[in-house]
Amino acid sequence: MKEQIYTIPVNEGFDAGGECPFCNMYHSLEKDAIDYMLGASYMEDDIRAETDKTGFCAKHFNMMYKEQNRLGVALMIHSHLQKINRDLPALCDKLKSQGKRGLFGKNSKSENEVSPYLNKIIGSCYVCDRIHNNFDRYFDTFFFMWKKDNDIRNKVKNSKGFCIEHFSMLIEQAEKRLSGKDYDEFIDTIIPVQLENLKRLEGEVDHFVNKFDHNYKDAPWGTAKDSLVRAITKLSGEFVEE
Ligand SMILES: [Zn+2]
Ligand SMILES: [Zn+2]
Repeated sequence: MKEQIYTIPVNEGFDAGGECPFCNMYHSLEKDAIDYMLGASYMEDDIRAETDKTGFCAKHFNMMYKEQNRLGVALMIHSHLQKINRDLPALCDKLKSQGKRGLFGKNSKSENEVSPYLNKIIGSCYVCDRIHNNFDRYFDTFFFMWKKDNDIRNKVKNSKGFCIEHFSMLIEQAEKRLSGKDYDEFIDTIIPVQLENLKRLEGEVDHFVNKFDHNYKDAPWGTAKDSLVRAITKLSGEFVEE
């Protein structure tokens, strides 16, 4: 299949190698999203209105904080805090003024709007949302390519498998998106690739552990040296910075 503009990120994810092509795609989207946040986007009113409502998850607060644009992060956080400080007092007043007070009121149930309001902020992240919108489209594209494109089938066969989260997602999504021969071939390809590569990684980590035994101190490292870092990606989807 001729490469189309929308197939490029999927091909790049596979071509980058490593323990999971979808993690490669995810991390590339994540980097773009962080760059976007710390570009001029935080100065735009409609984006600021959104980030005021959603906030960010701990991981993405951290990533933004580590970048060079402290003023950009400060402006977003300032505006987000202003929004919380505008909304929260009224919800707290309402909670204080109702229910569970005194002898006769203790069985009446107060309606807590404080926790739902805060839980919504805790559970949402503008960067995560931005990544997921694009990431879902990559899954669409991947399955579209699987149906049309022998290249991608070869790339899956020659890959090192997937992290366990993306492997699980691929199996779930395949049930919905593929049928007949396409589904059967997908399952028959992806399962041996995944199982063989999990075994391969177990062997590499086994060798890593053995290297702490003085009997093995002269044995060559082989591919075991960075196996721990790769195993963490396989198991968690995260890239470890060394
Ligand atoms: Zn992954
Ligand atoms: Zn996030």
